[in-house]
Amino acid sequence: MTDLEPYREALKQSVCSYCVDRNDDGSCGLEGGRACAIDLHFPHIVKAVEAVQSDNLNDYARSIAETVCAQCPNEDEGGQCNFRENFDCALDTLTYLVVEAIEGVDQGKALLNREAGGEERPA
Ligand code: SF4
Ligand code: SF4
Repeated sequence: MTDLEPYREALKQSVCSYCVDRNDDGSCGLEGGRACAIDLHFPHIVKAVEAVQSDNLNDYARSIAETVCAQCPNEDEGGQCNFRENFDCALDTLTYLVVEAIEGVDQGKALLNREAGGEERPA
């Protein structure tokens, strides 16, 4: 994983579009200078999603909890997070969109690699 920008762009486009904290002009409306977890933990989120291949969203949620939340300053030593408890973290409430965006970028890259390698696509 070298170029992270496509992931950042995909996340912004898909997750922010559905986020209740997004302003009408597309900017982030989180108050008080609060940083979004998706921005704050971006590389770790990509790593956590890429570590899983599953049809079960819970597997991704578990990986994110272990890789991202465990080192997030908002989670206490007991594994509790007030933002998660209050459905106030986009990474938690929109996990399925996060996974979809990252896997979409990975699938696009894989397709490009296959085509560059001259492999035929399945009919
Ligand atoms: S809180 Fe995060 S996901 Fe929501 S609009 Fe702001 S940057 Fe986007
Ligand atoms: S759910 Fe809580 S601990 Fe996990 S990333 Fe969001 S704010 Fe941090």
